[in-house]
Amino acid sequence: MPGGTDQTLRPFLWRAERMYSDREIVSRTASGIERYDYRTYGERVARLAHALEEGGIEQGDRVGTFCWNHHRHFETYFGVPNVGAQLHTINPLLPDHHIEHIVSDANDRVLFVDPSLIEQLEGPAESEAFDAVEQYVVMDEDVPETSLSPVTDYESFIADHPTEYDWPDLDEDQPAGMCYTSGTTGNPKGVEYTHQMLWSHTMATLPASGLDIRAEDVVMPVVPMFHVNAWGMPFTSTAAGAKHVYPGPSPEPADLAKLIEEEGVTLSAGVPTVWLGLLEYGQENDLDLSSLERLIIGGAAAPESLIRTFDEEYDVEVLHAWGMTEMSPIGTVSHLKPGMEEWDDDRRDEKRAKQGLLVPGLEMRVIDEDGEEVEWDGEEFGELWIRGPWVTTEYFERPEATEEDVEDSWLKTGDVVTVDPEGYIKIVDRAKDVIKSGGEWISSVELENALMGHDDVSEATVVGVPHERWQERPVAFVVPVEGIDEEALSEELLAMVRENYPKWWTPDDVLFIDEVPKTSTGKFDKKVLRERYDDPSLVEGNVPEEAAPDATD
Ligand code: AMP
Repeated sequence: MPGGTDQTLRPFLWRAERMYSDREIVSRTASGIERYDYRTYGERVARLAHALEEGGIEQGDRVGTFCWNHHRHFETYFGVPNVGAQLHTINPLLPDHHIEHIVSDANDRVLFVDPSLIEQLEGPAESEAFDAVEQYVVMDEDVPETSLSPVTDYESFIADHPTEYDWPDLDEDQPAGMCYTSGTTGNPKGVEYTHQMLWSHTMATLPASGLDIRAEDVVMPVVPMFHVNAWGMPFTSTAAGAKHVYPGPSPEPADLAKLIEEEGVTLSAGVPTVWLGLLEYGQENDLDLSSLERLIIGGAAAPESLIRTFDEEYDVEVLHAWGMTEMSPIGTVSHLKPGMEEWDDDRRDEKRAKQGLLVPGLEMRVIDEDGEEVEWDGEEFGELWIRGPWVTTEYFERPEATEEDVEDSWLKTGDVVTVDPEGYIKIVDRAKDVIKSGGEWISSVELENALMGHDDVSEATVVGVPHERWQERPVAFVVPVEGIDEEALSEELLAMVRENYPKWWTPDDVLFIDEVPKTSTGKFDKKVLRERYDDPSLVEGNVPEEAAPDATD
């Protein structure tokens, strides 16, 4: 039985409420800036806990959120797990059929939804997949016209409840959070975070060997709170007693620039695309980053030029980090070791652009195709395996996926890496057939199946090609049935993808080829196609640029 000393999230909230009670939580909302302190935060979290209890939520139940980064979402981060329920953050950027699978698989009983995302949820909510949902709560002060039912607004939901809650003693193995990750094939897989995993991730990423978050910091997670708890920063910042700044729904570079300047943000975090956008904004506008000390960039490889520009033009230190949904999520951070600061710029920046050193508490192995550990020489490569207290050892109700990806508590990450003699890992490839564009997954296999479903397509494959802004974009290679009008076919294929998938899944190009190159085992040889893409003269029927929408359109 837990005796109150288990590793749970409760003490982080308790300490911040009492010892940093006047530190602020700031949130950009559709109606302007909301601002309160940890004391008020704690009271609202307690009221939320009472509301959940009155709504029949019990220990072990799942509560979903369909929300961007704001103070109400942050209230669910402590309110839900501390009553013993499980906070299931849902990625609203996924296709409808994935959202249906996720809500049904998790059996969510209550769903918190942002006003700006209601319309998107209404379609999936009509399916049987949402049968277990008993209550929708709109993250606002009132409820707009909607088919979601029964529905209430958040402020009414928590109103009239006491501002104190007698938090239970929980077992540290009690699941506290949940997030789904997309695989190569099939439906997204659930990853559960126990209190102990979130506690240990918080304690490991808090100090300088992790993300170095302190009470004096003003922390703005731009990485969405539906992406592995915004890399754990709402928990870490609370543990530190730092000021939180939440950038609200779909923030533009101008919104981020304003918040950084007006709130004095010292530390922020997000995928490379966000920071490339901010630098672009800075070329045309005044960009005051004088308060900003550090940026954590991860989720996709941070280009060396990005790291250098922030350093040289804005005096902002970039910490390149690597992680995964299954890792809660932080695994490595590219800190320089003593003495490296004095290295010449090129040598130093090459190091900083690597994914970096393991966070203390983790262990790794790098395994080559023969099952042997590779040399740490920066040359030999293999698959990165990791284990540690905040690394998952099991997918939610997916034993076949667990068997494939976990061996003796080692998580096989699917990332192919080299390790240099100083221990810095560098990702050189991905063992799995997926595309990550602007920090979001696109399933090449799903797109291929859709394309091959067209009567005039004999074979099709989709590969990820490097892209300056989005890191990767999908390109389709299609073998058409003989005698087909290729231009008309490519228009039809693009229209079909646009209709059935999020618009940013639409391939940037459809290229017609005579045959898909195959490996010796008969699999599509995507490496050859990626190389060919670099030489467009080798492919026929290049679709004009304007046929393909940008991921942000
Ligand atoms: P997710 O589970 O969606 O967080 O995605 C995890 C995957 O994103 C990793 O396995 C990597 O393939 C990729 N990734 C995350 N961080 C980085 C990084 N800093 N550099 C390159 N790839 C990254």
